[in-house]
Amino acid sequence: MLVEVAAPRFKPYTRLTIQQAPQWAAMPTHLQEAVLVVSRVLPFRTNQYVMDELINWDNVPDDPIYRLTFPHEDMLAPEDYALLRDLVLVKQDEVAIEREVRRLRLGMNPHPAGQMTHNVPSIDGVPLRGLQHKYKETVLFFPSAGQTCHAYCTFCFRWPQFVGMDDLKFDAKESNELVSYLKLHPEVTDVLITGGDPLIMSTRALAGYLEPLLAPELAHIQNIRIGTKSVSYWPHRFVTDKDADELLQLFRKVVDAGKNLSVMGHYNHPAELRPAIAQRAVKRIVGSGATLRMQAPLIRHINEDPAGWAELWTTGVRLGAIPYYMFVERDTGPSHYFRLPLAKAYETFQAAYQRVSGLARTVRGPSMSAFPGKVAIDGIVTIGGEKVFALQFLQARNPDWARRPFYAKFDPEATWLDDLVPAFGEERFFFQTEEDEPHRVIPIAAPRAQAHAATAGDGAGDIGTLSTGT
Ligand SMILES: *Cc1c(COP(=O)(O)O)cnc(C)c1O
Repeated sequence: MLVEVAAPRFKPYTRLTIQQAPQWAAMPTHLQEAVLVVSRVLPFRTNQYVMDELINWDNVPDDPIYRLTFPHEDMLAPEDYALLRDLVLVKQDEVAIEREVRRLRLGMNPHPAGQMTHNVPSIDGVPLRGLQHKYKETVLFFPSAGQTCHAYCTFCFRWPQFVGMDDLKFDAKESNELVSYLKLHPEVTDVLITGGDPLIMSTRALAGYLEPLLAPELAHIQNIRIGTKSVSYWPHRFVTDKDADELLQLFRKVVDAGKNLSVMGHYNHPAELRPAIAQRAVKRIVGSGATLRMQAPLIRHINEDPAGWAELWTTGVRLGAIPYYMFVERDTGPSHYFRLPLAKAYETFQAAYQRVSGLARTVRGPSMSAFPGKVAIDGIVTIGGEKVFALQFLQARNPDWARRPFYAKFDPEATWLDDLVPAFGEERFFFQTEEDEPHRVIPIAAPRAQAHAATAGDGAGDIGTLSTGT
């Protein structure tokens, strides 16, 4: 017998509406203030499901999902917070607020390095906005209709796009441009549709992007990936939304056309996979013939506990998902608040890995999406009396660099690739040329028209110094 259950309606909250949330009134004043003040600088969006099912309000503000979605005071320097608080809550001077907000944002490395200068593809010299092509086999695609999310992560490296610092302009030609580019590039096997979150779109809109990829001329496209946080922030997308069934039929259609459809699910914390609806979503995705891979960055205050990662991967594997990447937090936005030393990232990864079945050891990391490629920290070892990091590329701008071990001097404070120097007294890493100036990181504002790519991908990203990348 079928019991009709009312489908919950998606109810988002932003800076302008959060005071209507049922939980708001019970929040301590200093936390309310922090939300109202910091959300002027960094994007804030949550929703009723996240607030009701994922956050434990008895543990606020330390609750990891609260930290994951609510802005808090420590994300700004104390003097900046004090100044902005005064402008927002006391003086209420909109002109001064806007000036201060702009200053603070520009101080947060909004476009970590030169960005898109390297990865924007073109046809006949005309750059294709909305595409990024860094690694030979995979093209990233940012559909204009998928440029927001069901909630925002406080550490998100795409924050400039959500606060309007990036001018995201796309047009109706975008799907055609993607197809034209792919036809000219038989070496590409994978398309990664990313955002924002493509699953913010209706199924009908998403079909408009996916179906053209099934054309016979694109037989070389074997894998279509969709990067999404909806599995965590709004699993109803796959279960009870009015076009949830159509979404799964669309996945099935892609699979029946002979492609692998891979949902790249962004899961930060095991709490996201505990609700029945979230587990149901995994089952339905996998049941459609798609695969679901799990990936996320390691973030201080949110997912530092190896036992949490082990629970996440173990639960995921039991439901049919595949652990994929653990990333290192990148250097943009309030990264001073969220980042962890590479040494600690490695220890956390290792401790989590040691706790799980071989089926969950498909995970790789901790990995930095840096300019030359995705660099994994394989270990901390002492060779010839020198303590070093053992590193390798999992993906590289030059495919020949992948899987070649290399070594950097151990540095307990280092948090990113460009903090590292070669071990054994060598002048440069094997992938650097004489022209490279690895330790002079010059932040270059990304060209405006290309700035969205600065916010690219799922750990995709890219940039013009050794530094950050997507
Ligand atoms: C991570 C990433 C990809 C995908 O790499 P895989 O290792 O195949 O998952 C593609 N493009 C960019 C720019 C990336 O950062």
